[in-house]
Amino acid sequence: MPFSKLGLSTPIVKAVTEQGYTSPTPIQAKTIPVILSQRNLIAAAQTGTGKTASFVLPILEMLSRGETQRKKRVRALILTPTRELAVQVEDNISKYGKHLALTSMAMYGGVDSKPQRARLIEGVDILVATPGRLLDMYTQRAIHFDEIEILVLDEADRMLDMGFIEDINKIIEKLPVDRQSLLFSATLSRQVKELARATITRPIEISV
Ligand code: AMP
Repeated sequence: MPFSKLGLSTPIVKAVTEQGYTSPTPIQAKTIPVILSQRNLIAAAQTGTGKTASFVLPILEMLSRGETQRKKRVRALILTPTRELAVQVEDNISKYGKHLALTSMAMYGGVDSKPQRARLIEGVDILVATPGRLLDMYTQRAIHFDEIEILVLDEADRMLDMGFIEDINKIIEKLPVDRQSLLFSATLSRQVKELARATITRPIEISV
């Protein structure tokens, strides 16, 4: 099955083709149509299955549709357990979104927050962040959550293992309730399902 059959538009299909991808991986084929239909989702997928593109491609598609005036506030928020993963996901967003006008940024702790603040003021459509730094920025009113349409919890099991549950709950309670929520995890353990139950309304469950 080609990428174009999944409901993705030409600039995105062109970008993945330029990456050398010929067809979607199984997780991509299953999740992309569900995400594009605006359903909530919990997906079990290991790293290496193409799980990053499974949420990045439909997010790019949805945010690029009916583009009106550029908003200065974040529209999609992706939470990751580590700085390395945040950078990697943002790198994928740049690659897959290179023919679109959307902006993205990776935000993490352990570095000066000034450049990150400056970028937020310029405007960021898709923010990839680690929970601790994101909460700091929120507390300091450097970021607003009121335009967030889509939330992704990436590697949810690792975030729980690393003790981010309180930060994640604090972040989620500040997000608009009518958002779309997506959770990706290597395993859907009892704790992950607990987190999903508390934060994601009527999700479709997919595993590969
Ligand atoms: P991930 O599971 O997101 O870490 O992706 C694993 C690797 O698969 C990355 O190097 C991606 O660039 C690559 N990849 C993702 N989707 C595809 C695809 N449809 N065809 C070929 N490679 C892919």
